Amino acid sequence: MKQSDEPISGKAIIFSAPSGAGKTTIVNHLLEKYDCFGFSISACTRPKRPNEIQGKDYYFLAQEEFQAKIKEDAFIEFEEVYQGSYYGTLKTEINRLWKQGKHVLFDVDVKGGLALKKYFQDNALAIFITVPSIETLEQRLIRRQTDSMESIQKRIAKYEVELGYQPEFDEVIVNKDLKEALEEVERVLLEFLDVESIPVSK
Ligand code: 5GP
Repeated sequence: MKQSDEPISGKAIIFSAPSGAGKTTIVNHLLEKYDCFGFSISACTRPKRPNEIQGKDYYFLAQEEFQAKIKEDAFIEFEEVYQGSYYGTLKTEINRLWKQGKHVLFDVDVKGGLALKKYFQDNALAIFITVPSIETLEQRLIRRQTDSMESIQKRIAKYEVELGYQPEFDEVIVNKDLKEALEEVERVLLEFLDVESIPVSK
């Protein structure tokens, strides 16, 4: 992991979870409800899904473009999250959001989350979102209809490994019921940001 030359200012709120645990829903909820958060748009090399938007969900890059960014030292962290699919957090994203006075929200895999926590140190809150069981995860991935059976199997295998990293996170939230999980997330955010309430977007 390479260090950015920029000084660290705002907060970094990191969401890591097995794919399908609902972290993207949680992150999107926070972004819609509160103006003070901005999303770190990652670069990635996997193909764009039909519902995704280039430059909003991800910066979808060709393998060569991603490799060029690694050489340029453009990433705070990057991982080959799935075989052949690279994902990385761009330094330019953090600077873009901090300049706007936002706290940065990250939706990254477990190893990436821990790398970011190490990088941002006390300015970071690392939240692990999990599911009550492997069966729940499998059902959610099937219902989502965005992945092939092969991809679902890969994601489940990864989940079993990711569970082992849970104790290294600041907070673990089990997403059994979305409403309750959102309430729990908001509670830990208030504590971390040391505020009594977060102003909602107009
Ligand atoms: P998906 O392909 O389902 O969008 O994402 C696969 C996994 O990659 C998710 O766990 C997601 O959080 C993670 N991911 C997305 N962006 C990054 C990133 O910049 N760095 C790392 N390490 N993981 C990421």
